[in-house]
Amino acid sequence: MNAASLKSSARGLNTRSSRREKTRRAADVIADNYLRPPAERAGSLCIGGLTPLSLSDWPGQLAAVVFCQGCPWRCGYCHNPHLIPPRAAASLEWDDVLAFLERRRGLLDAVVFSGGEPLLHTGITRALHQVKSLGFKLGLHTAGAYPRRLAELLPAVDWVAMDIKAPFADYAATTGAADSGAPALESVRLILASGVAYEFRTTVHPDLLAEAALPALAGSLAQLGVRHYALQEFRPQGCASRELAASCTAPFLENATLSGAIAPLFDSFCVRRAE
Ligand code: SF4
Repeated sequence: MNAASLKSSARGLNTRSSRREKTRRAADVIADNYLRPPAERAGSLCIGGLTPLSLSDWPGQLAAVVFCQGCPWRCGYCHNPHLIPPRAAASLEWDDVLAFLERRRGLLDAVVFSGGEPLLHTGITRALHQVKSLGFKLGLHTAGAYPRRLAELLPAVDWVAMDIKAPFADYAATTGAADSGAPALESVRLILASGVAYEFRTTVHPDLLAEAALPALAGSLAQLGVRHYALQEFRPQGCASRELAASCTAPFLENATLSGAIAPLFDSFCVRRAE
């Protein structure tokens, strides 16, 4: 074989091996996005958005908010439906987010991980510890779908806000996911047992949660030991359901009788009306 045919043969081999490599990588991406359960996604963390400064996502703290991509549930009233798929083309690289946070040391009090469901991806563990090592306080917004991962991470977290979707037996009607009440209830118990500062809150859409159900729901939380609770009115911004977005106001949240029945059950209680 002369030099020219050797080069040509090598080019052919390179092309074939590059095609094989591309095919292998594509197969890996498909497996990572769709086939492997969350626990097996190797240290991944997909970031769907970043709010550089928020005064409301952790009341009293100047916080950046990291919105993690992916959620196992399908709440009809979700106002971040673009964060539900576990992967998104327009996602941010975690290393870029971390570099941004490094530049904010001394300017922010805290970083809040929100979503989506931030506990979906295994990479949340490393990310939380990296942010903690930068000196920030750590906040976590969760719906409580992954109690085992929550239990692992609670010791590192300074404040957690957990959504209570509905009475635990009725969760599926709101989340669209069978048996979603059981992990949520376990997560409530874990948070209360951890001693970490917390807020539990319920988003109220009148088509999904009737006024009459609220005192009983609040009573069941108080019985579990919840001391801090909030009701927040559904906000139609971003909601993918036209029906829910069209019939959204819950004027009964102004009802003094309702607040009067719920407030005494807790050390702190508030109602947040939609703006
Ligand atoms: S748990 Fe939260 S992020 Fe997930 S679908 Fe429900 S509202 Fe959306």
